[in-house]
Amino acid sequence: MIDNYRPHWMTEELESLRDLARRFVAEQVTPNQERWYEEGATDRAVWRKAGELGILLSDISTDYGGSGGGFAHEAVIAHELCVAGDASWRTGKQIHVIAAHYIERYGTEAQKQAWLPGLASGELIAGMGMTEPGAGTDLQNIRTRAEKHGDGYRIHGAKTFITNGSLADVLVVAAKTDPGEKARGVSLFIFDTRTPGFRVGRRLKKIGLHGSDTCELFFDGCEVPAEALLGGAEGQGFYQMMRDLTYERALAGINCAAVIEHAFQVTRDYVRERKLFGKALLEQQNTRFELAEIKTIATISRLLADFTVERMVEGTLDTSLASMSKWWISDQQCEVVHRCLQLFGGHGYMLEYPIARMFIDARIEPIYAGSNETMKDLIGRSL
Ligand SMILES: Cc1cc2nc3c(=O)[nH]c(=O)nc-3n(C[C@H](O)[C@H](O)[C@H](O)COP(=O)(O)OP(=O)(O)OC[C@H]3O[C@@H](n4cnc5c(N)ncnc54)[C@H](O)[C@@H]3O)c2cc1C
Repeated sequence: MIDNYRPHWMTEELESLRDLARRFVAEQVTPNQERWYEEGATDRAVWRKAGELGILLSDISTDYGGSGGGFAHEAVIAHELCVAGDASWRTGKQIHVIAAHYIERYGTEAQKQAWLPGLASGELIAGMGMTEPGAGTDLQNIRTRAEKHGDGYRIHGAKTFITNGSLADVLVVAAKTDPGEKARGVSLFIFDTRTPGFRVGRRLKKIGLHGSDTCELFFDGCEVPAEALLGGAEGQGFYQMMRDLTYERALAGINCAAVIEHAFQVTRDYVRERKLFGKALLEQQNTRFELAEIKTIATISRLLADFTVERMVEGTLDTSLASMSKWWISDQQCEVVHRCLQLFGGHGYMLEYPIARMFIDARIEPIYAGSNETMKDLIGRSL
């Protein structure tokens, strides 16, 4: 969208990946949007197609079936999904990628070999089970327990708001191995959803993201082997979660910047066509001022998001910068889609217009992947 702009980290290989992702989205994602909206979830076919093309786990090592790229590869794919207006598969895919990252980063060799190839091919779908009815931001106080039982553990508890909840074959689940401790009592488990005692509850009705399933999950004395403990050591879960959130937050900034770009483009196209009082709506001074401001916000957002990619590629992205990108761009996204919708008038209120969907889908961004208040708290700690 920015004239003659190419980020420093862009390469010819990444441009080819971008073209591949663009074709994939046009052929496999966009035509299914309406059905996924109706059904409340994506289906397995799109995961397998992405796996076949090598764009499902683009930055996981080839030793484990991934495509061996880096963060910029994920950023390019995320951008293509957002500028095509997808919020259904993208939401599930990113949780899948994040779960795979936990396994690659903290898992034992046996855990990586057991799970990652299936996640890369799309044969398996992953989810992240952290949030509970009583604890979202405050993950030190989760109540799901993993009690020692023979050589393994028995898991009891409930999770909520879990993306891919009804589709997932494997979940990275946070549970207390020592309920007497706060952060040091939390461990992560790689949980096979075929385990007896596991149950998917309601698929929750949301104000947006209608094509992404978000579920309640129940663990009723689920017996798991010792090998399910991520990395093989108890009490590491909270620290593992905190370290990996930088990745998720940088990705959130990239998504929101791309949605802002998409909102700007569909709105500019609309106001060029829409005629009022004998001229295009774009000819009204208010419309031009609105779009001038939105184009400026889109440009700043893109540059900030690209800066996080540059830092991530260099290995220097810190919590503070990832948090700045996440909170600021997600807030801007909400503001921009609200302003763009206004320029559509009543049409903007109709779900058949992409801006209406962007409006309802945007509201979650300041809440998940760490709420924006948490982001400011984290930035505050670096002052
Ligand atoms: C569509 C959707 C998909 C999701 N997918 C997943 C998923 O796949 N896996 C998963 O584990 N979770 C998932 N979540 C959960 C999400 O991560 C949580 O909703 C989020 O972390 C916030 O937790 P909470 O909802 O319990 O809110 P709370 O933690 O109760 O927060 C309520 C409010 O208090 C504020 N607050 C919190 N702490 C402070 C503080 N110290 N000072 C001031 N204000 C504070 C928050 O910012 C927020 O505004 C999803 C949620 C949604 C809605």
